[in-house]
Amino acid sequence: MSVKPIVLKLGGSVITNKAKASTPSLPTIERLSEEISMANVSQLILVHGGGSFGHPLAKRYAIKEGYRQGDASQVLGFCKTHLAMVTLNELVVDALIRHDIPAVAVSPSSCVVTKSGRIDTMMEEPLKQLLKSGFVPVLFGDAVLDSDLGFTILSGDQLVTYLAMRLNAARIIMGIDVDGLYTSDPKVDFSARLIKLITFEELKKTRERIEESKVTDVTGGMFGKIAELMPVVESGIPSLIVNATKPKRIYKALKGEKIKGTLISKFSVLS
Ligand code: ADP
Repeated sequence: MSVKPIVLKLGGSVITNKAKASTPSLPTIERLSEEISMANVSQLILVHGGGSFGHPLAKRYAIKEGYRQGDASQVLGFCKTHLAMVTLNELVVDALIRHDIPAVAVSPSSCVVTKSGRIDTMMEEPLKQLLKSGFVPVLFGDAVLDSDLGFTILSGDQLVTYLAMRLNAARIIMGIDVDGLYTSDPKVDFSARLIKLITFEELKKTRERIEESKVTDVTGGMFGKIAELMPVVESGIPSLIVNATKPKRIYKALKGEKIKGTLISKFSVLS
């Protein structure tokens, strides 16, 4: 593959209404499809989150924690969680195709097995062939089989970093519902400041400080995202966190134009 691919993540908080079960943000999905189409990137992989589709079911049936011997309802819960994600994925893929993007759904439960929650094996050949042939593979956070736990939840964030490493991506773009990484959660702390550029070393220190002090200034979803991004950034693949709910940000990010957001790179000046 001569042109390095871009891995684009569309957060569950962007493409769904997280407050309402199984509610997609259809106008946002339309707009993002238009932006992705206009950007016309030659090698692109898309990953999306679950938002109000996957998360409530995964939580109700405790899928992430693994299989409880003899619990048939949990087995059905696995199926329901996967189905919810496929349903959301269909909406995304449908919108992309209507905007002339050759999008193909790639279901992680069919090609990934995790081990204690981490990707252990992935059948990468179809994905590589899709990219080589000019298709846009669309993956998603999913309920997957796990060799230790029976099954679990594989997050879209883990998929993003795994794919970026395995396919030697040019960069990662993480679309979320706030302007980037802040000094604390901007939804609860109005004095939170946007971090425009952070190097791997600074990120590592910030993370260690948080872990030592148990201060939750980077919480939940964002803490997990940062933890996933660390090895990728260390390997030299820059990651950009941008607000995908704001028009044109994803378009500009894909085009490599300067935009508001957080750039996480190995060094302070990109080589
Ligand atoms: P998604 O599901 O779209 O991948 P998440 O909801 O898991 O994204 O994470 C994004 C959320 O993380 C934001 O809506 C924000 O409220 C929260 N958050 C917590 N701490 C921070 C922080 N330090 N900077 C930015 N966002 C943060």
